[in-house]
This record gives sequence, C-alpha cells and structure tokens, in this order.
Amino acid sequence: MRRWNGWGDETVSAVLPPRASGTLGSWVGPGTPPRDATPEEVLASVPPSRLGPEPALSLDPWERLLHARGQSLPDWIALRSGRVGTVPDAVAYPETGEDVAGLLAWARRKGARLIPYGGGTSVAGHVNPLPSQEPVVTVDLSRLSSLIALDETSRLATFGAGVKGPDLEAALRARGFTLGHFPQSFELSTLGGWIATRSSGQQSLGYGRIERLFAGGRVETPSGRLDLPAFPASAAGPDLRELVLGSEGRLGVITEGTVRVSPLPAREEVHGVFLPDLATAVAAVRELAAMRLPLSMLRLSTPEETRTTLVLAGHERLVKALERYLSFRGAREEKCLLLAGFSGSENLVRQTRRLALGALAMRGGVVAGKAFGREWHRNRFRAPYLRNSLWEAGWAVDTLETAAPWSRVPELLASVETSLREGLAGEGERVHAFTHFSHVYLDGSSLYTTYLFRLHADPEESLARWRKLKTAASAAIVAGGGTISHQHGVGTDHAPWLAAEKGELGVGALRSLFLFFDPEGLLNPGKLVS
Ligand SMILES: Cc1cc2nc3c(=O)[nH]c(=O)nc-3n(C[C@H](O)[C@H](O)[C@H](O)COP(=O)(O)OP(=O)(O)OC[C@H]3O[C@@H](n4cnc5c(N)ncnc54)[C@H](O)[C@@H]3O)c2cc1C
Repeated sequence: MRRWNGWGDETVSAVLPPRASGTLGSWVGPGTPPRDATPEEVLASVPPSRLGPEPALSLDPWERLLHARGQSLPDWIALRSGRVGTVPDAVAYPETGEDVAGLLAWARRKGARLIPYGGGTSVAGHVNPLPSQEPVVTVDLSRLSSLIALDETSRLATFGAGVKGPDLEAALRARGFTLGHFPQSFELSTLGGWIATRSSGQQSLGYGRIERLFAGGRVETPSGRLDLPAFPASAAGPDLRELVLGSEGRLGVITEGTVRVSPLPAREEVHGVFLPDLATAVAAVRELAAMRLPLSMLRLSTPEETRTTLVLAGHERLVKALERYLSFRGAREEKCLLLAGFSGSENLVRQTRRLALGALAMRGGVVAGKAFGREWHRNRFRAPYLRNSLWEAGWAVDTLETAAPWSRVPELLASVETSLREGLAGEGERVHAFTHFSHVYLDGSSLYTTYLFRLHADPEESLARWRKLKTAASAAIVAGGGTISHQHGVGTDHAPWLAAEKGELGVGALRSLFLFFDPEGLLNPGKLVS
C-alpha cells in the first residue's frame, strides 16, 4: 500500500547506515525526530465537501486527503504536521475518455474546477488545490491505464494516460519492447503526468526525453477533443504535440498517449568510473557527448556528491578498500563518480563501451567496474525511500534542478550550491548541498542538486527554512542563465520565475493558449501561469 505522508510503498524502507547518521549530523547538526500527525488527526482537519452526492464523484474525506498534495517538501511538511490546508471537494475516477468529457461538461454546468491527477508525484505543487470560491474535483486517471494498441511494425504503443511506469513497462516487455522512460518516480508516476510535465528519465540520453517519445494521443479539452496523430515527422505548421507537452493540466486532460517504443535491449550495463577532479570530469563528459556515442546514460557526481554517496552507501570496509585503490590510481579527495550506461545489442554495447571507457581512461578515469553500476541499477528507484528515513531522523531533504549551456555551467553550479549552503546562515543553521549532472547534451547539461537541513520543531519554521532556500536557489538559477526547471516542471513553486525565462510576451502567449482551449478556466487554475 502507498504511504499517505511520504514516499512509496509502506512495506519498503531504506535504512540509514549507522555511520551515515553521525556524518550527516556532523555536516548539518544532529536532527531531532519530529512528531508526525496521525491519520486520525489529519482527517479531523478535512473540511466537509462543498459538493453533494454525484454518481461519478467520491466525497470520502480520506480519498480527498490522499489527493490533496504531491511530493514536494512543503507537501511533506503539510501532511506530516497535519496542517494540510485546502483539500479537493471530491475525487473522480473516470474509466474512459467519454467519462472525462462528461466531467468537463459537468464542471462547466456547476462552475467547478478540475485538477488532472496522474500519480501525484509532482514536486512543484502541480496537483494541490488552491483556495477558491468554486468547488474543486481531482480527476484521478488511474483507471485509464490499459495498453490500447501496439503497432509493432512502426514501434508505436498507445496507452491510457493514467498507466504507471511499472505497468507500462510490463505490458511492453511481454511483447518484447520497452519505452525506456525511467524517472526516479517510475514506481508511481504516469504516462500522462510525464507528458504534462515534460519529464526526463534516467536513460533519456539513449531513449530520449518524453518529448521525443511522445508521438501523439488524445486530449479532452473544455472546447472539445484534440486528436494528435502520430506522424514520424511533419511540416504541417507548428506541432500541436508541443502545446500538450508541459501543459500541466491547464489545456486539457490527456486520455491517451502514443509513444515510440524500442525492442528490449539484448544487453544493459552501467559502469562506474572515477575521474580525478570536476574540471577533468566535465571535459570528459563533454567529449563523450560530442562523440555522439549511443550511450544510454551519463551521470556525473561532483566531488561533494561522490563523498556523500560513499558515506550513504554503508559497506564501510569495502568503501575504505575502494578509496585506497582509487588513491593509489590518482583519484583522491576531489574525485568524481561518473556512471556510464550502455544498452543495445551485444556488439553495440561492446563497441560503445570500448570507445567510451577508452576516452575516459585518456582523461585519467579509473574504471571501478560493473559492480558499482549493478548496485546503482538495483537501487535506482530506492533512493527516494531514504527521504522517509532522513525525515524520521529529523532532517529535511529536497532537490532542485536546472540546465544551462556548457559555458555557464561552472558558475551556475557554484552559485546555486553557495546560495543553499549559506541560505540559513542567518539563523545559525548549516545546509549540506551536492549536485550531479543528470543529463548531458551536446550544448550543455542539467544540474540536479540535493540539499539537506535540519527540521525545526515548529513545522511553520521548517517551511520558512525551505522557502528561504528555494527562493535563494531559484534566484541563483535565473541569474546564472539556467532554466527554472529541466524536468520537474513549473506548478506553483517555480511559477514566480517563469517570466524571467519566457518573457512577458511568452507568458502572455501561454495564457492565451489555455484560454482558447479552456475559456472558463476550469482546469488546474493557478498552475504554470496565473
Ligand atoms: C521521488 C521522486 C523522484 C522524481 N524523479 C523524477 C525524474 O527522474 N524525472 C522527472 O522528470 N521527474 C521526476 N519527479 C517528478 C515527477 O515524478 C514528474 O513530474 C512526473 O512526470 C509526474 O507524473 P505524475 O503522473 O505523478 O503526475 P502528477 O504529479 O499527478 O501531475 C503532474 C502535473 O501533470 C498534470 N497531469 C497529470 N496527468 C495528466 C493527464 N493525464 N492529463 C493532463 N494533465 C495531467 C497534473 O495536472 C499536474 O499539473 C520525481 C518526483 C519524485 C517525488
């Protein structure tokens, strides 16, 4: 069963290695475990629904509570403290596109607002109802989840948009295919959510981000149905798929998505390579990107993240032995861990691996072998579970991400990390921040920063700490020429910085677009653009 106030399945937990707690404590100060509100306490704060009984709606307070928040740190603080605030008045579970069209017509008659909801894994406030005069219904798309068609010749698969990652991959795997889209939220996030937020997966270097995988689909909008045929390419004016990608539930409800799938690879490997320092490592990944090798992943950790990863890994004796070996090979304090992924036919993997590891060796890279990669692969969806354990130990963890051209990356990285590390100095608190380059492109890279700080006994103070850090880091991103989001989207949390990137004209164009499809503003009000 899904955790109601944290990440993932209740039966799964990630244990913090004993030494890790001590080290984290020495970095930011010892945590004080907070007292979390019980489900009963939180339920008691859910206001009565403003809607009467309707066959298509659940007014059940627990269902409404479960759909009130996503997975951002403010969402966690709200749920764990029991101060949830606004809760939807009802939840709908449409089973067909026609049901969705019916809900839109009902919302227009009633003046109600609708929030499309995939897996609720948003980390930017996308699915949270905002206070409003009008009743709000969350539209949970989990029942639109079947494989509708698989055109094996064209390698196109059409799914109901509410399908979750594991179900989508299982359906494809049974027919010898994969989508290859593996965001870290894979367990719970959905195809519709990926499209609506322009998501990126761990192997997007090889398979492409969702915008490359999304070939077409169907969207129910308040102004009617928008069908997007799947052409391999088209010069018939602007691509309407681009309007739907990143629309964050404002334009319509995606009911079906057609995606470009690939045959299951014969071989998948991930290798860990340690490079001597960040400048060398960045030069090496830029070189690999320029070589246009068919790699499935390049994930480069800064020295700080490499240190943190080794601390959190546990396995103390093994790590010490590894450190000795790396030091002997010249990779010391400033070493950076690079994970390089290869996937495809046996032959392709062998050739690509030879070229890529050869180029890395020329830069002083020490190949740590497949064991590192296997460990990463095994745990790649487990890392978010650590957030639960860290919270319970009294520490808050959040992440933020951006992307920028290579020429701006070093300064941007430094200014974002500094804004976080110094963000709470005024109140005598330390922040531990570390970054990896999660997606590498020919012209630049994404930067994915994790930061950890102590929870305050008062949840409002914890929220104020988060706000201070988020504001400082977002300002640093904008000032440093980065995008306000490489993969998490805008929601409410990034909206104040959107105009800095798109310009007032660009934001105005988005407003007009949403008004065209949704003249009465029924869908997800207040998100992306106000
Ligand atoms: C632990 C964790 C790890 C994460 N890792 C990644 C990662 O690696 N890469 C990445 O890109 N993101 C990541 N995210 C962020 C999040 O998972 C993505 O934004 C994801 O795409 C959201 O999908 P969802 O189905 O949960 O959408 P939701 O959170 O339910 O919704 C997100 C937005 O999309 C809209 N929406 C959802 N479904 C539809 C639909 N059918 N039609 C119209 N609008 C819709 C909603 O209205 C909302 O505005 C992570 C989040 C967490 C908590």
